Amino acid sequence: MAVKDHALIGFANPFLVCSKCTSKVRYWHDPTRCTCGDNSIFNHPCGHKEEVTSICPSWSPVDGCRCINKEQHDL
Ligand SMILES: [Zn+2]
Ligand SMILES: [Zn+2]
Ligand SMILES: [Zn+2]
Repeated sequence: MAVKDHALIGFANPFLVCSKCTSKVRYWHDPTRCTCGDNSIFNHPCGHKEEVTSICPSWSPVDGCRCINKEQHDL
């Protein structure tokens, strides 16, 4: 299937990675708004349906990254 535009939900946390392929995940597929016919939620752009994990252990929605040593995740 050709790549088409999906309706996506953006994350506030920029440190999320796919727990399967460990690539950065910036969006989730939003099946309630997307008309592609795929009713599942998946990580975008890698397409996996695995959970996402934050590579920043201290991230908070208010303060962002609060790591003392920011080199523990190079973003
Ligand atoms: Zn879609
Ligand atoms: Zn993935
Ligand atoms: Zn951090």
